[in-house]
Amino acid sequence: MDVKRRTFLLGTVSYAVVGCSPANQRSSTPPSLDATAHSEPIPPASSVTSATSEPTPSVEPDPTPSRSVGSDRTSRKALIRRYSGKRPNAWGEAVPRVVRRLPTKDRVVALTLDACGGRTGSGYDAKLIELLRRERVPATLFVNARWIEANPRKLRRLAEDPLFEIANHGTAHRPLSVTGRSVYGISGTTSVADVVDEVTVNQRLLTKLTGVAPAFFRSGTAYYDDVAVRVVSDLGLRVVNFNVLGDAGATYSTSQVASAMLTSTSGSIILAHMNRPSRGTAEGIEAALPKLRKRGFRFVRLSEYLR
Ligand SMILES: [Zn+2]
Repeated sequence: MDVKRRTFLLGTVSYAVVGCSPANQRSSTPPSLDATAHSEPIPPASSVTSATSEPTPSVEPDPTPSRSVGSDRTSRKALIRRYSGKRPNAWGEAVPRVVRRLPTKDRVVALTLDACGGRTGSGYDAKLIELLRRERVPATLFVNARWIEANPRKLRRLAEDPLFEIANHGTAHRPLSVTGRSVYGISGTTSVADVVDEVTVNQRLLTKLTGVAPAFFRSGTAYYDDVAVRVVSDLGLRVVNFNVLGDAGATYSTSQVASAMLTSTSGSIILAHMNRPSRGTAEGIEAALPKLRKRGFRFVRLSEYLR
């Protein structure tokens, strides 16, 4: 479909300004969500919406709810009813149902790049994106609503490039908790309703802006409790983390990034960042690329191995 015709609508959702993930997150400002956003069902993952050139409010209720996500079973109200009062049994980056590597023995690795947004996290690593384009390295880009707000044209260019697929990195970039747990000094979501909003407000925004509903979700900080993960699953998205910490929140030097990348094995999912161009991420990936290829690895997008 013609993505150029898609309209970018950014004025109707307000976002909290919190830090970036994971090593440099320190703020705990709660999110400010548009209350009217709650009534609209979100499209199912992988669906395609029709392009429009008419600016319409991005949170206007949809009169024809989609079949799966947004149906009665997965409405905000139904999810609150189903999961409120459920006590989490796990908390962290590796709780049940969180995908941390691709289910394959093929010599493939998936590079995933977060764009976290916020006051210090809304940059754009042009050198890294140019490298991936030059070397034909596909990647899955996890984009936060605050980053979109700062970079609407860049998001459009990235979404138009078939080398990349766009995934959901949350609305206010918060750890996903039903009880308000924190990590790295960042307050998590505090309830099932809060979890739903953290996922669905950005899901609607990305769907509207790119014409494609993301299939994958990763929270700000990549922390979850197990109840929150079940809520995301019911919304029709896979929660995807990583087993290779590629740049530690874009704090690694070039050689540290390269060393981390070279720990990859078959099916590894690498986490790095595309929003902090002053760090060693681009150079580190550039240094590791030929070595990984020499070892027989091919880069893939998540959707090539995950459904
Ligand atoms: Zn992030």
